Amino acid sequence: MTEYTISRRRVLAGLGLGAAAATAPAMASRDVPRWDETVDVLVAGSGAGGCSAALEARQAGGRVLLVESLPRFGGSSAMSGGVVFCGGGTPLQKAAGFEDSVEDMIQFIAANSGPYPQLEKIQRYCEDSLAHFDWLVGLGIPYNDRFTDVKELTLGDESLYFSGNERAWPARENSRPVPRGHVPGVPGMNGGRVLMEHLLERTREAGVELRARMSARRLVQESDGRVVGMQLERDGEIVHVRARRAVVLACGGFIHNREMLQRHAPALYDCSTPWGNAGDLGEGIAMGVAAGGETLNMDQGFAIAPLYPPENALRGILVNRAAQRFIPEDSYYGVVGDAIAYHQNGEAWLITDADSSFNFPQDNFVAVAEAATIGDLAARVGFPQGALQHTVAYHNRFAEAHRDPLFNKQPAYVAPLVKPPFKAWDLSVKRAFFTAHTFGGLHTDVDSRVISSFGEPIPGLYAAGRNVAGLPVAPYIASGLSVGDASYFGRRAGRAAMRGEES
Ligand SMILES: Cc1cc2nc3c(=O)[nH]c(=O)nc-3n(C[C@H](O)[C@H](O)[C@H](O)COP(=O)(O)OP(=O)(O)OC[C@H]3O[C@@H](n4cnc5c(N)ncnc54)[C@H](O)[C@@H]3O)c2cc1C
Repeated sequence: MTEYTISRRRVLAGLGLGAAAATAPAMASRDVPRWDETVDVLVAGSGAGGCSAALEARQAGGRVLLVESLPRFGGSSAMSGGVVFCGGGTPLQKAAGFEDSVEDMIQFIAANSGPYPQLEKIQRYCEDSLAHFDWLVGLGIPYNDRFTDVKELTLGDESLYFSGNERAWPARENSRPVPRGHVPGVPGMNGGRVLMEHLLERTREAGVELRARMSARRLVQESDGRVVGMQLERDGEIVHVRARRAVVLACGGFIHNREMLQRHAPALYDCSTPWGNAGDLGEGIAMGVAAGGETLNMDQGFAIAPLYPPENALRGILVNRAAQRFIPEDSYYGVVGDAIAYHQNGEAWLITDADSSFNFPQDNFVAVAEAATIGDLAARVGFPQGALQHTVAYHNRFAEAHRDPLFNKQPAYVAPLVKPPFKAWDLSVKRAFFTAHTFGGLHTDVDSRVISSFGEPIPGLYAAGRNVAGLPVAPYIASGLSVGDASYFGRRAGRAAMRGEES
């Protein structure tokens, strides 16, 4: 296969049209024709995971090279809201009058992260959260003392908000609700850009060498499995870089690799809007697997049902194909998205009346039916006969008293659906603006060492961010866990890499 073909496949895959990533099986060190360059730590990927690893490795005294396949640095991290999930009593939480503790933070993540959460990672992340926030502040990222109670990533410049499912049921019963979404204090959806500008600047200043348009293609291994370098490609030229201490894979997720998505995360495949930068092709994961790494949670991801804002829409009810409610509508949109994508065959409808309808032209999803009675609405959508009428009657019976015995929605969002016109909004993953990205990746330990399928760390190989199965799992319970996990465990990778033995 020519180099041209490989590059073309990469471009197609970046557009979401292509096939497999351009990586190849690991290479034996004896097959390396010559080492073009030698560094201590070689990092692939310039997002929050990669830059944090590179910066720490450099500060620990290493010669560090960071490569990025795209022309621009920053990855999905720079596109993001820049929310980082921090807690345990940060200065921002205190200034806004909220009490938090490490134990409460652990409890929130652990109790809401599925049946077998990675407790050791959660514990380290929470125990070090105050120090990690100080580190972010130390990078120069601007935060302010302002809190907002708005139920969405603030478009103002407030730096603290409830970024997830903290106040929804059952989360509020198994852990004390505290706001932990820490956002750079800049207006609009610019937090990620600002966070990454500062992180990249500090990384450069520290002396990390950053090279764009240079793609990691294959890991190079000794016969005993130790990773000693990488084969890379720049403008069609192949080079080999030796890494004396370690290689860190931080190439992001795989939402733009359609084949990989279909194989591993079919529930995300149909989501209308793959969310992530064009480098999200799963290349780092593929390289790690080729070197013997195990993967976890490959089916999981962040599927977002864009139900709010405005919050008054949460007074509507969400129903499935059987016209039955299945979740408290005031859940975090990642939790709602998960329920629809993974548990309702990708289909759901929001039923509103005049009070719970949108007071602006809603273009995230469309009203597929409108009627003066619930019965007519049900017939127009094609729900089973009588089912929606039963659901609405049951809901209204308790909603008069702001109660929701079925799902304990917060009283402020509970209201009877009584004022026509009634509308049914199509929230199906294929037809709504239903964004998604992936969470599955390499299995790593708390020092970000890649673990093989035999349960042993692969010497010389580390990974961070969405190359890794980390704190974010499905359902995603709060914004900020992904950039938080990427930056925190990226830092641990950089430090551990420099502690590791030289090859
Ligand atoms: C619009 C949007 C908003 C979001 N908001 C938030 C938020 O507020 N908080 C939060 O926690 N999460 C948020 N997320 C998710 C979060 O941004 C990502 O999960 C996280 O930034 C991933 O970080 P990373 O370092 O793993 O990958 P990235 O930041 O994507 O960096 C990986 C880099 O590796 C490069 N790369 C890929 N393959 C190769 C290769 N072979 N060789 C060299 N380089 C390669 C990629 O081009 C990319 O630049 C958001 C995502 C989106 C899309």
